[in-house]
Amino acid sequence: MEICPKCGLPKEACICETLAKSVQKIRVKGIKKKYGKISTQILGMDDKSINLRDIAKELKSELACGGTVKDSMIELQGDHIKKVKEKLIKMGFQVE
Ligand SMILES: [Zn+2]
Repeated sequence: MEICPKCGLPKEACICETLAKSVQKIRVKGIKKKYGKISTQILGMDDKSINLRDIAKELKSELACGGTVKDSMIELQGDHIKKVKEKLIKMGFQVE
């Protein structure tokens, strides 16, 4: 059985990530890139308590787009602001 190093509970019972998601204020915004392309940026996630790569992977497969993780920011190719917000809220995040 895996134990969470933060709270000492078994992984199944651990609420650290859920808790982390609900206290973080996430911002989603679109930015203009070169050649008039739009990218969707997700800012404000704490990369110490949230696995940004997992989140990015899920969003990329859901939206069928490309994307990268830079520091504590996820950037997706294309204008997906509305869908990303909906998806993040479903995942348990608080989105501004
Ligand atoms: Zn925990």
